[in-house]
Amino acid sequence: MTVKRIAFARIAQETNALSPVPTTLADFEGAHYREGADLLAAASRGPEVPGFFRRAELAGFVRAARDRRGEIEPVPILSAWAASGGPLDRGCFEALEARLVEGLRRAGRLDGLYLCLHGAMGAHGVADPESRLVRSARAVIGGAPLVVSHDLHGNVTRARAAAADAIVAYQTNPHRDHARIGRKAGRIAIGAALGELRPVMAWRTLPLLLGGGSTIDFLAPMRAVFRRMHRVERRGEALAASTLMVHPWNDDPALGWSTVVVTDGDPGAAERIADELAELCWERRHDQPPAFPTASEAIAEARAARIRRKLGCVTMADASDVVTAGAPGDSTHLLRALLEQATGLLTYCAVRDPDAARSLWERAPGERVALPLGGTLDPARSPPLPVAGTLVSKHAQHGFGKTCVLAVEHLRIVVTEGPSMVMRPSFYRDVGLSLWKADIAVVKNFFPFLMFFLPYNRKTIFVRTHGVTDFDAAFQLRFDGPMHPRDAVDDWRARDRLRRGLDPRPPAPPAPPPRPAVSV
Ligand SMILES: [Zn+2]
Repeated sequence: MTVKRIAFARIAQETNALSPVPTTLADFEGAHYREGADLLAAASRGPEVPGFFRRAELAGFVRAARDRRGEIEPVPILSAWAASGGPLDRGCFEALEARLVEGLRRAGRLDGLYLCLHGAMGAHGVADPESRLVRSARAVIGGAPLVVSHDLHGNVTRARAAAADAIVAYQTNPHRDHARIGRKAGRIAIGAALGELRPVMAWRTLPLLLGGGSTIDFLAPMRAVFRRMHRVERRGEALAASTLMVHPWNDDPALGWSTVVVTDGDPGAAERIADELAELCWERRHDQPPAFPTASEAIAEARAARIRRKLGCVTMADASDVVTAGAPGDSTHLLRALLEQATGLLTYCAVRDPDAARSLWERAPGERVALPLGGTLDPARSPPLPVAGTLVSKHAQHGFGKTCVLAVEHLRIVVTEGPSMVMRPSFYRDVGLSLWKADIAVVKNFFPFLMFFLPYNRKTIFVRTHGVTDFDAAFQLRFDGPMHPRDAVDDWRARDRLRRGLDPRPPAPPAPPPRPAVSV
């Protein structure tokens, strides 16, 4: 029997269309870029994405291929990952696309492809860029099975569903099943390549941007939806069932939550389950994300949490400048409030300011410095903050570039050249700041920090100031029609049918109830 050769590749970045900071090829190559044998080694032995993931989707895929050793050969193409940020510049997108196509061509005969995409990537001047990647890959591999995996914040479009044989998304939020999803996608691609499976896919798209409350998979109101997906997979009714709760700051007009179900040769079941999941999501549309306190309210809350600060720290999530959701990380709103109002509370915070990081890099630790910080990448949303303090230390941090720690009164400000992706305690620990000493630690993340900061965190406060990751900031974007919750939307089905290219007429009204039996 001939060994089936299945290629695997990743091009992944989550785009915030409101960020004015474009993502460049240097951002990918500086964060994570591998090809060929290097990639296979990283996906086999780890770490897959140094500094971020020991094992992620590609490790899961390689594991699935190893489970069928002798039948399947995994063929590494490329893996490119960049931190969330603004849209890719066109040159960056086209270079990555060309490398993917070239890599697939050079790979020789291929019997399938697993493509790991974020699902919420944008690029300047390219509509629906990830569908273009899927189509370009399809043009090389022809009719061989092509399985795509997405973050559950991805957006599924008609072009993508048409070009892929199967789409599989994370089933956890905060995300912790990267490797499991890669393995699941791998099994579908492998089964199809070996002729054991016949994947068929159905999907639904909803004019729904925000809903599902906190959108955490193990909490109400979304728990029931995730359980339903697990159940259909466990019972073998579907090979994969996914609900994608969309990254709301994308500029695709057909943005919205979606459901995707892949079954083994049973289109009817796929349609039915995708439809049921969509209905469950729509029922949860009125559960909006919680409203967050202002910076002043948050600081007062942190000050009042005296015992909790003694036992650990208060973690403040700067919800308006979430770098892991594509914000520039240069906002000064919370920084200014902490400087003026958190007097006496030892506070760790971070700001991205490439010029300031480079100029501080020229100074010696212990020197007094005075300079404006932040507000340079997105000056329209926050002004620079003048500070005076002492340079404490300097570090060359992978992914963050030149990194300098400043002591400014009760603040310890970590100034980074690259994205100030504060999500893990190591962000502070690696520059010599012990979280056991802090009263307040600021993070620029929505979910995963809740897991990573567990040993230190005694109270979590999400703070709203003003920035590109404010939930309602997404309402500035243009959509293909009314969008819940910005607009009143009575029914999701007409829009779903329109987006999927089906008959745009509204569905027939329900049949009248049966006549009551006449009693005598
Ligand atoms: Zn996500």
